[in-house]
Amino acid sequence: MDLGLSDKVAVVTGGSSGIGLAAARIFLEEGAGVAICGRSGDRLAAAERSLAGPHGADRVLSAACDVLDPAQVADFRDRVAERFGRADILVANAGQARRGGIEDLGDDEWRAELDLKFFSVLHPARAFLPLLESAAPSAIVCTNALLARRPEPWLAATSAARAGVLNLAKTMSRDFAPKGIRVNSILIGLVDSGQWNRRFEQGEAGGKSKEEWFAELAAERGIPLGRLGEADEAARVMVFLASPAASYLTGETIEIAGGQGHHV
Ligand code: NDP
Repeated sequence: MDLGLSDKVAVVTGGSSGIGLAAARIFLEEGAGVAICGRSGDRLAAAERSLAGPHGADRVLSAACDVLDPAQVADFRDRVAERFGRADILVANAGQARRGGIEDLGDDEWRAELDLKFFSVLHPARAFLPLLESAAPSAIVCTNALLARRPEPWLAATSAARAGVLNLAKTMSRDFAPKGIRVNSILIGLVDSGQWNRRFEQGEAGGKSKEEWFAELAAERGIPLGRLGEADEAARVMVFLASPAASYLTGETIEIAGGQGHHV
C-alpha cells in the first residue's frame, strides 16, 4: 500500500531517540522530508547522522528545542519553514514518564508533569498550525500512553495527565477538522526504546539480562503477547495515522500495547 508520503514533510518532536527516531526513519523510507527536535545536542547529532547517512542530508533537519519553551518551538518552526517551506505532519511525541504515587509526589512534581504532558502537545500544535493549515489535508499524531485509559498507582500524575491529553486530542480533532487537519493518538503500553535502555543501564534490572528483565516486566504487567513492543511497531502505526492513507480517520486512538488494554 502506498502511504502517499512522498514529498510530504513530517515534524517529529522527540525524534532523536526511541519511537520518534524510528518514526523519522520510516517517514524517510516512505519518501518524506523529516525535521526532528530534542533537548540533548549529542543525541540529536547522532540521530541526524543515522538518518542523513542513508537518506541524504537535504531531507533531514535536526534542531535543539525544548517543547516546553514556546520561543524555542517557534524557532524550530521557523527553521522548518525556511528549509522545507511546508509541514504536512506534526508528531507530538517528546516526553517521558514520572514515577510516583499519590503520596510520593509533591505539588511541584504534579505541576511539572501536567506541564510536560499538556504543553508538549499544545506548544508544537499552536506553532505549526499555520503551516499545517496551508498544507492541508494534513495531520497531527499525539504519542500517548495506555495509562490514559488504564491508570497505574505508581504513575499517578503521568496517568492523570495522559487521560487529560487524550481528551485534548479529541477537542483538537474537532476544532481542526474544518481546517483540513486530522488529529489522532497512539496509546503505548510498554515499548523498548531509549528510555528503557537508559533504565537498564542505570541498573533497574538488578543484575538480570535485558531479555530476562523485559520478560519479567511483560509477565508482571500481564501483556497477552508476552513481550514488550519494539519502537518500530509503535512507529509504523504512528506513520500510518499521519499519512494520507488514513485520510478518513480523526479523533481516533490506536493502542499499541500487545493486548494489555482490558476495555472493549
Ligand atoms: P525516548 O526516551 O527514547 O525518547 C524520548 C524523546 O523525547 C527523546 O528524543 C528526548 O530527547 C525527547 N524529549 C523529552 N523531553 C523533551 C522536551 N521537553 N523537549 C523536546 N524533546 C524532549 O522514549 P520513547 O521513545 O519511549 O518515548 C516517546 C514517547 O512515548 C514519550 O512521550 C513517552 O512518554 C511515550 N511513551 C513511551 C512508552 C514506552 O514504553 N516506551 C510508554 C508510554 C508512553 P531529549 O531527552 O534529548 O530531549
